[in-house]
Amino acid sequence: MLEPISLTTDPQNVEEEILFTSLRAQDWEEFYGQETTKRSLQIAIEAAKQRHETMDHVLLYGPPGLGKTTLSHIIAKEMGVNIKITSGTALTKTGDLAAILTNLEDGDILFVDEIHRLSKAVEETLYPAMEDYALDIVIGKGPSARTVRIDLPKFTLVGATTRFGLLAGPFRDRFGLIQRLEFYDPKGLQRIITNGAAKLNVNLDPAAALSIAKRSRGTPRIALKLFKRVRDYSQIENGGDVTPNSVERALNMFAIDALGLDHNDRRFLIEMIDKHGGGPVGLSTIAATIHEDPGTIEEVIEPYLLQVGFLKRTNKGRVVSKTAYAHLGITYSEK
Ligand code: ADP
Repeated sequence: MLEPISLTTDPQNVEEEILFTSLRAQDWEEFYGQETTKRSLQIAIEAAKQRHETMDHVLLYGPPGLGKTTLSHIIAKEMGVNIKITSGTALTKTGDLAAILTNLEDGDILFVDEIHRLSKAVEETLYPAMEDYALDIVIGKGPSARTVRIDLPKFTLVGATTRFGLLAGPFRDRFGLIQRLEFYDPKGLQRIITNGAAKLNVNLDPAAALSIAKRSRGTPRIALKLFKRVRDYSQIENGGDVTPNSVERALNMFAIDALGLDHNDRRFLIEMIDKHGGGPVGLSTIAATIHEDPGTIEEVIEPYLLQVGFLKRTNKGRVVSKTAYAHLGITYSEK
């Protein structure tokens, strides 16, 4: 018997990371959708290349799995420069940041994932680095301490975050280009899945790709994850071909419903209805009810529920919508 799979709160495993890396869109041609972001980046890249200058710092924000890391690789490729990847949780000390920055070359990209998690000290070290390509280092202690300024290569910082609101104003202001990534429509996800299937030499029916796409919460990472699981299932149960029928059976077994809600989403909504009459209820109360971290709820569970209109945020708290009751088959009573 297959286990339900979680689309939202599973830690990313190594095998999946390898899959995402091997299927990563390599250039603009392969990167579907996000037209506004794509256009803005293309213009910024072309302009920088024409002027033989380093590109402006870029901030990409939006829910996980929408293509922030992929875009940073495409930017590096288009600019013809190297990319160094790190994250807000890995860069704990200002010394680590200094070591990375001084090892870059002119034009290189420094990609910092989860940039909202940087400590204040590291963030403030970044300010002169971003603005003047310089690091201010304090040497010595006490009255004899002095600050020495070190020149840095002219690099481009590409920051990615799922929590735009947590970035300090002065930090945001130092990015020349700020782009929000949007959820994808099923047609776009269908193309991403079809492209992935072709790379993996899997025979995939277009209707099957669309059916996976519709249950992928507007997110390429989830589309590819579901495709991988369905492919494994189809290999064992269907001789390898991925058909609408095998998609249907596999996703039902994984407890992914017609709109792509998984058991965590349903549990979140059902507990809100059962324990709190559907709301309004505050984030910390819901978090305690379902034993989930409030950050995870805000970053990964809620965005899609808000997007499909199953949840509303009011100033009194979160409220489950009437359409969510209908989707869950629960009778709604007017309050
Ligand atoms: P994020 O950094 O926002 O969490 P990633 O860049 O890691 O997302 O994307 C996850 C996977 O989805 C990667 O394999 C990536 O190639 C694929 N992907 C994301 N966006 C697109 C897109 N617009 N077109 C094609 N593939 C995409």
